[in-house]
Amino acid sequence: MSTTFNKLPQPDAIARARLAMISEPEDVYDLLKVNPPISLYRLCKDFLNINVNLSSDGGDLANSGHIKKDEDGGITIWINPLDSDNRQRFTLAHELGHYFLHILRGDQSEFSDTPMEFRRDGQSHKEEVEANKFAARLLMPSCDIYAEVAHLVEPDEDGISPYLSEETLVRELSKTFRVSEMAMQIRLRSLGYL
Ligand SMILES: [Zn+2]
Repeated sequence: MSTTFNKLPQPDAIARARLAMISEPEDVYDLLKVNPPISLYRLCKDFLNINVNLSSDGGDLANSGHIKKDEDGGITIWINPLDSDNRQRFTLAHELGHYFLHILRGDQSEFSDTPMEFRRDGQSHKEEVEANKFAARLLMPSCDIYAEVAHLVEPDEDGISPYLSEETLVRELSKTFRVSEMAMQIRLRSLGYL
């Protein structure tokens, strides 16, 4: 599984300290000098000192994920292991959004996410919308999307760009960024591609 991710550098104290204070999700890549996709599990473990629990008895299986700040200040994220890999990955990115945007700022120390929290129907709580946006930017940074689309439609020797249907574009990019096709479709729409 790790072979499909770009390798993170060896963690060092400076990178850890700087990462612990990011406010923009794209800063992760600038700080670590790496391109997406990266393993968020390694990011949590090696750089953020966040414990990620994937056990089936670690949380409520009706939920997608959970993040909690313990009394000793330690952070534990639980991810529903029954969800698909891409779903788990988006949930972990979403929980990291809660971590950086809400828990570190002291607004709240715990979030439980049902699959409902990920809907984009405008009825979600402000924190859920913010965590979803953070997750989308962390997994699919706009500049990397631009670069990848440019690469896919690069003209051939005759100056002709390959035709890409929306379906192909979504499918190819979702594979590259290791996200679900649904997540990529939403992201491309928000960036004006669809
Ligand atoms: Zn949430």
